[in-house]
Amino acid sequence: MAMPANVKTNGDYPIPETMKAWVLGNPGELTLQDKPVPAPARAEVLVRIDAVAICATDLEIIYHGPPAMIQGGDPYNKGFTPGHEYMGTVVALGPGVDEYKIGERVTVEIHAGCGQCKRCREGMYTSCHNYGKNYGDVDKGHRANGFTTDGGFCEYQVNNINTLVHVDDNMTDEEATLVVTAGTAMYGLTELGGLVAGESVVVTGPGPIGLMGVAVAKALGAQPVILTGTRDNRLEIGKQLGADHVINVRKEDPVEAVRRITEGKGVDYVVECSAAPNGINEAAQMVNRGGRICLAAFPHEAPAVDIAHLVRNNIYIYGIRGEGKSATHRAEAFMRQKRFDATLIHTHTFDMTDLPEALRYAKDRVEDAIKVVVKNKHAESQRVAAE
Ligand SMILES: [Zn+2]
Ligand SMILES: [Zn+2]
Repeated sequence: MAMPANVKTNGDYPIPETMKAWVLGNPGELTLQDKPVPAPARAEVLVRIDAVAICATDLEIIYHGPPAMIQGGDPYNKGFTPGHEYMGTVVALGPGVDEYKIGERVTVEIHAGCGQCKRCREGMYTSCHNYGKNYGDVDKGHRANGFTTDGGFCEYQVNNINTLVHVDDNMTDEEATLVVTAGTAMYGLTELGGLVAGESVVVTGPGPIGLMGVAVAKALGAQPVILTGTRDNRLEIGKQLGADHVINVRKEDPVEAVRRITEGKGVDYVVECSAAPNGINEAAQMVNRGGRICLAAFPHEAPAVDIAHLVRNNIYIYGIRGEGKSATHRAEAFMRQKRFDATLIHTHTFDMTDLPEALRYAKDRVEDAIKVVVKNKHAESQRVAAE
């Protein structure tokens, strides 16, 4: 056993000294390698990774680099393991940890932050001012797993206890990987936008965040919830998740449709998840005077923005950065209560050893993949053995 003496372990969950981990070489190049199993420090636990969902941001990191930042720069050829939307089982406790138990199922959010900067002290750890500073002379202890520290495309990972969310027994491993996606939508709706029951919402773009945005908005009591997109099958999933109206932007003008549905008033809140170049301007036309816009996606080029319209109409705009302010816990509460079925966005499952194929499904949207999940086999065998 390689764990230090001050780390608590339990014979039911034997921990090997090494594990298989996917390691990023050059852009787009992942190889399966042996790595030591990391040991949890103070306020950390070791999570045996059971399932990981692939996120569009993983693809950004693997092919382009940012927002990953390792030792002050891009993540290539530094032994870095990506993957951030994972869940698993607590198998070891760092010194002083009694908040979680060995054997407890948990899912994770990404950012632990540094815990000492102005934003972390305000609870805005996703906006930590010391992002990526966790090495050498600038070691502030910042952690964002799969971004600035090793992530989940492996068998074991250490996590700060503040990034853990308990997973209810009635939730599958696959569903539990979606908590952070629903938590990001929750953060955009409640923490940033202050959404309250009865307010009207448009979500533009039925990707994973957009679809969870619809589900969470509806569960929060928004009325009506309107979803726009280009593909009818995605819009249909949106309806199943709670959209009162769906608009296919290839068939009708979304601004006119929103105005018609709201009898000319527009909505209180638009969550822009489409990354369309004109998305912000269309959102500004859909929202009512004094309304709010959350920007949850971005085009790669800088779009021309009608600022005069924003100014004259007292429109608030929020950029969303991650899941923040423990919104994941509130999202998990909704999912535990079956307020919406997040599994509707889970489309494919692969074995962890088939990660490159799973990434291809996610990247090229093979078979209209939405959320692709990879699973470790050890999870299966150990659970069967325990039954
Ligand atoms: Zn993600
Ligand atoms: Zn900080």
